[in-house]
Amino acid sequence: MTMTELPRIDRIRHDTRRRTLTVARTERLTPHMIRLTLAGPDLEGFHSAGFDDHIKLFVPKDGGEAMRDYTPRRFGPEGLVVDVVDHPGGPAADWARTAVAGDTLTIGGPRGSKVIGGPIDHWLLVGDETALPAIGRRIEEAPAGTAITAIVAVPSAADEQVFETKAALSIRWVHRDAAESHRAEPMMAALEAVTLPPRTFAWIAAEAGVARALRDRLVERGLPREWTAAAGYWLRGVADSAVKDL
Ligand SMILES: Cc1cc2nc3c(=O)[nH]c(=O)nc-3n(C[C@H](O)[C@H](O)[C@H](O)COP(=O)(O)OP(=O)(O)OC[C@H]3O[C@@H](n4cnc5c(N)ncnc54)[C@H](O)[C@@H]3O)c2cc1C
Repeated sequence: MTMTELPRIDRIRHDTRRRTLTVARTERLTPHMIRLTLAGPDLEGFHSAGFDDHIKLFVPKDGGEAMRDYTPRRFGPEGLVVDVVDHPGGPAADWARTAVAGDTLTIGGPRGSKVIGGPIDHWLLVGDETALPAIGRRIEEAPAGTAITAIVAVPSAADEQVFETKAALSIRWVHRDAAESHRAEPMMAALEAVTLPPRTFAWIAAEAGVARALRDRLVERGLPREWTAAAGYWLRGVADSAVKDL
């Protein structure tokens, strides 16, 4: 493969400012996913160009404030939609679990977007429930006919989601207990069954050790590293510990 055939990653910077928003709606989307719709005049000028962008949520912690990364799942007339995984022991998840319409939430960002393009013929999207908002957004935003294979690990069939898409989508849901989300094996087994046609771009996000193991295996199978993007969306046992570029 020549250099000209590499995927292109365009970096876009945005003006960052804090926006104070109102929770317009909360919904238990699936047993482990809380959907928040945020609204308010402060959303004016909000822009998110990349499906794996992130914003900061400022949530209460020990009488102060903590910042955590979340994906702008959708932005439109109804407001800004954010999907929060319900896991134990984190201030962001704790806040989302008890949020009700009318609550106030401050967000920041996205500071920038990485827009992935170029000569990609097949997208491979692999992730756990924290990656599901980005994966869902990519699937829904993809132009008609885009070839996408997705592998998503969730605790049960009830945690699966349905996407409206014109993409040529093949999705494989992997079920494993939420307490096992730091283990690579369940997703690895599903990944082994996926073929890697030429010009496959693999996007991976999960617990950092899991994401690294999945990416390393794809590279071992012959996928050039430049045709992969892997991120640790969280790190087992460590608060606020994303590894955005593995
Ligand atoms: C670019 C990016 C986009 C992201 N988008 C989303 C998103 O749209 N939705 C979403 O839910 N998450 C998303 N995440 C992951 C989210 O930022 C982390 O899960 C974050 O740690 C949650 O904060 P917390 O306050 O709930 O827990 P923390 O205080 O950060 O962590 C407390 C404890 O919980 C553990 N932990 C953290 N997350 C999980 C989890 N999911 N499952 C099990 N244990 C966990 C930690 O290891 C730690 O031991 C994203 C991360 C990145 C980097």
